[in-house]
Amino acid sequence: MINLSNIHKSYQMGSNSLHVLKGIDLKIEQGEFVSIMGSSGSGKSTLLNILGILDNYDEGTYHLDGKLVKDMSEKKAARLRNEMLGFVFQSFNLISFKNAMENVALPLYYQGVGRKKRNKIALEYLDKMGLLEWANHMPNEMSGGQKQRVAIARSLISKPKIIFADEPTGALDSSTSYEVMEILKEINAEGITMILVTHEHDIAAMTQKIIRLNDGVIAEVIKNGELENWKDQFSKKDKLEIA
Ligand code: ADP
Ligand code: MG
Repeated sequence: MINLSNIHKSYQMGSNSLHVLKGIDLKIEQGEFVSIMGSSGSGKSTLLNILGILDNYDEGTYHLDGKLVKDMSEKKAARLRNEMLGFVFQSFNLISFKNAMENVALPLYYQGVGRKKRNKIALEYLDKMGLLEWANHMPNEMSGGQKQRVAIARSLISKPKIIFADEPTGALDSSTSYEVMEILKEINAEGITMILVTHEHDIAAMTQKIIRLNDGVIAEVIKNGELENWKDQFSKKDKLEIA
């Protein structure tokens, strides 16, 4: 599903360059629930943005569903995102002047679905999140956990194959965080690949595979609680480059 080879990414700031990702090799299979862990500034969001085709990389290759994602036009990237990717963010990214139903329906608006139909489908997704009664409420009338459930419903409405969640529990208290993680687990159990960024160990521990980033490289991969010899999945030549 996702195949990264030797991905590098630097940010240019005036005459300075910050080398953030320093050769990332990564495979994620369909249906996995993966977390990307690492301290603040280790490059987690940078990696997630590349995976979600929200940003470009400088070097290496990224294959998504067998297709090379490189220097894609914004139009083509947007189409691919609409077709197969969903996003959930720490700060929910809801539109403040639209109610819950309209927020959930937004991806269908961009797909050209008429108002009546998209609102009906949005209500179904809100219902799945236990928020049917909140359909007409504005984001500022809802709790953090409710807002994140609205954002999750919005990410699901275009039937993505992969959901990217950048610190989805970062703004929530721990019991609400666990509720949101349970929802993400249920969605994953229906076959949607889930890729989550977090710096919280207890959140990462709720996923099947933890990829730990350190200073722009993958320091270790822990699968079902066991340290994985992840470098073995790459060819000998690649291994030498990693080492
Ligand atoms: P994390 O999500 O792990 O906290 P990020 O991927 O957001 O880390 O950032 C990694 C490093 O890149 C940080 O030092 C950050 O300041 C820097 N950075 C992130 N985005 C940009 C940008 N758009 N321009 C310049 N520097 C950036
Ligand atoms: Mg981040």
